[in-house]
Amino acid sequence: MTATDDCLFCRIVRQEIPATIMWEDEHALAFRDIEPRSPVHILVIPKRHFASLNDAADAMLLGRMLLAAREIAEGEGIAQSGYRVVINTGANAGQSVAHLHVHLMGGRTMTWPPG
Ligand code: 5GP
Ligand code: ZN
Repeated sequence: MTATDDCLFCRIVRQEIPATIMWEDEHALAFRDIEPRSPVHILVIPKRHFASLNDAADAMLLGRMLLAAREIAEGEGIAQSGYRVVINTGANAGQSVAHLHVHLMGGRTMTWPPG
């Protein structure tokens, strides 16, 4: 068994687990968070498995994921009202799924700093 066999988000990429897909290209996929913490809460992930931001060095891929978040924010109608893009990395940040993911959150006022 490889690291990706039992990875939740790799299983979503392989369509073994259903998800509400919002956007995809050759290298990345975006879908709605199953437990949204804001009116818009979408995850953008690389199709290739990286456990966290610590493990990804592909600048093109990382940049594409950020641009995807921006495009999706525009599509969701929150580009002007504002949104937050978050990458929880590691235990102190509360990363709970060990497959790199960008949270796109918006549709409500947020506080700073995050908890
Ligand atoms: P983290 O806490 O690692 O930064 O974020 C993981 C996110 O994945 C959480 O917001 C959580 O709600 C979401 N999540 C966990 N399992 C699933 C799932 O099976 N499907 C979807 N769409 N989101 C999930
Ligand atoms: Zn994975």
